[in-house]
Amino acid sequence: MPIVFSAIVPHLPMLVPTIGKENIKKLKATINAYEKLECDLYAAQTDTLLIISPHGQLQQNSFVINLSPSYDIDFEEFGDLSTKLSLAGDIGLGYKIRESLETKAPVQVISQTKLDHGSSIPVYLLTKHMPQIKIISLYPSGLDLNAHYNFGQLLKRELLINKNRVAIVASGDLSHRLTKNAPAGYSAKGKKFDNKLIEYLNQNKVKEILSMNQDFIKEASECGLKSIVLLLGILEGIEYQAQLLSYEFPFGVGYLTMNFKL
Ligand SMILES: [Zn+2]
Repeated sequence: MPIVFSAIVPHLPMLVPTIGKENIKKLKATINAYEKLECDLYAAQTDTLLIISPHGQLQQNSFVINLSPSYDIDFEEFGDLSTKLSLAGDIGLGYKIRESLETKAPVQVISQTKLDHGSSIPVYLLTKHMPQIKIISLYPSGLDLNAHYNFGQLLKRELLINKNRVAIVASGDLSHRLTKNAPAGYSAKGKKFDNKLIEYLNQNKVKEILSMNQDFIKEASECGLKSIVLLLGILEGIEYQAQLLSYEFPFGVGYLTMNFKL
């Protein structure tokens, strides 16, 4: 089976122990969930990790594949000057994806060695024991949710005919408005959004997610929905079981970790 693992993960820098320091205690559920996913990813004998992040170089009308022979991970912008990691890119599979999709969907290829934090934090935490894993970095677009779902469906076809064992990780946080001191200020709709989304994901209600109200989504101030919808498009037609590993919001931002058991 070419798709061997899929999950939704948050990407706050504090999950990295050298950055989070004592704050890491407040993120226990998320840390435990990440550790479980790391074991599963290892056990799945993954060749390639496709990471979908909303914090790369985004284009309004086009999806972006960031393809580089190698990717550098560091956390200098978060004050950690010592952590450094370099992983290989899966150029072969990346170009095959581009070739098969370019006539069917708006897609651009760029080449940036340094990964954005939405990619680098999950990759760093999930691949600790897999230095040989290859990476493909993918960015959502300014297009609507349906376009992301369709793009995922097209991408899935290419992954299924490939022999690489691929893991898909949707990186993103939920509402940034869950408490009074939340980064985007408090809104009651924040919690409502998170609850609805988690409920729909648990029950595999894709249609309901795709038709969520635009103003409601905007009010929630999230950064993960498009990555998640793209992942759901990839999983369309594949049997899976959603498994909620953790959800917490110690700093007013919703951090969801969910495994899709294939
Ligand atoms: Zn984010």
